Amino acid sequence: MAGKNTDPTHIDISLSQGVDITWGDGHKSHYPLDHLRQNCPCASCRSEEHSSQPSSQPASALPMFKPTARLTNAETVGRYAVRFLWTDGHSTGLYSFDHLREICPCPECAPSG
Ligand SMILES: [Zn+2]
Ligand SMILES: [Zn+2]
Repeated sequence: MAGKNTDPTHIDISLSQGVDITWGDGHKSHYPLDHLRQNCPCASCRSEEHSSQPSSQPASALPMFKPTARLTNAETVGRYAVRFLWTDGHSTGLYSFDHLREICPCPECAPSG
C-alpha cells in the first residue's frame, strides 16, 4: 500500500452500459449496472442485505427474468463520489471512489476463492 491511487483519471458513465473508470495507478474498472446496484452503499440497501430473508434469490434456470438495474441519471459529486439515480427512484447511494475501487469486479481485484 504505497500512497493513494484511488483518484480516477477518467470516468465514463453510460446510463445503459454502466461505468468505466481509469484509476490513478492505471487500473481500469468496468462496473455493470447490476453490480453497482447490488453494491449500493446507502443505509437502506445495506440493511436489506443484512435482513434475514431465507433464499430470497433461488438458483434460477432463467436468469433473464431477473430485474435489470437501469439508470435515469448519474452525476459526479465533488471530486470524491458518483451519485446514481435509478429508474426505481432510488438515489440515496453515494458511491465514493474508494468504495468503487473496493467493489471493482475484475478478476484482479476480486478476492480469489
Ligand atoms: Zn441504496
Ligand atoms: Zn479491478
